[in-house]
Amino acid sequence: MARSRGGGACYMLAPPNPETTLRLLVVEDDPDLNRQLTTALNEAGYVVDRAFDGEEGHFLGDSEPYDAVVLDIGLPKMDGISVLEAWRRNGRIMPVLILTARDRWSDKVQGIDAGADDYVAKPFHLEEVLARIRALLRRAAGHAQSELTCGPVVLDTRTNRVSVNGNHIKLTSHEYRLLAYLMHHGGRVVSRTELVEHLYDQDFDRDSNTIEVFVGRVRKKLDVDIIQTVRGLGYLLTPPTDAR
Ligand code: CA
Repeated sequence: MARSRGGGACYMLAPPNPETTLRLLVVEDDPDLNRQLTTALNEAGYVVDRAFDGEEGHFLGDSEPYDAVVLDIGLPKMDGISVLEAWRRNGRIMPVLILTARDRWSDKVQGIDAGADDYVAKPFHLEEVLARIRALLRRAAGHAQSELTCGPVVLDTRTNRVSVNGNHIKLTSHEYRLLAYLMHHGGRVVSRTELVEHLYDQDFDRDSNTIEVFVGRVRKKLDVDIIQTVRGLGYLLTPPTDAR
């Protein structure tokens, strides 16, 4: 199924079967609004899971393979921005539509910075949410695939599995996040500082030498040469040059 392509940049696989029913998550603490959204999305043919606070939403989005998420910003237990940031840090790339309070432009900016794909301001028409979800899903079918590849290395962001030439490789969560980040940004140099800032939480040892240790471990486990060190700048992912 994978297109074979010698050399070149790291790229993504073909889209999954479009016939499959799409599964969405709605995270909204207002029970009426949650119900209205869920009902409208159900009627539009999607399978919908619902969460009523940030923690529950975060857990579901982190463990289930959703095709898209509708995420409120103002949520109890964990706010929407933190939920989104945590998903993205963990390599979760499903499209996310955020719901922002009217006139809170800062919410929109923060949301987009945190990795939101689009936003709708409250109060909204359900039709608008549906149209934006359709657009996000169309776009996602175009690029944001669950599988990322680089030469013989395949990383599945839904199952958090990594394989090399079809063989499953066991990575720790730190190692996985590092590789996922590099693969999402394949084609450009990623600095050590950027890796530290995007991958690890506050209490993580922010010494960038630690990153070198993790990179070394990931290289060793993959046993193929795809992570290049760009002296003084950081790391660049490229398919192995000796690929036959
Ligand atoms: Ca709310």
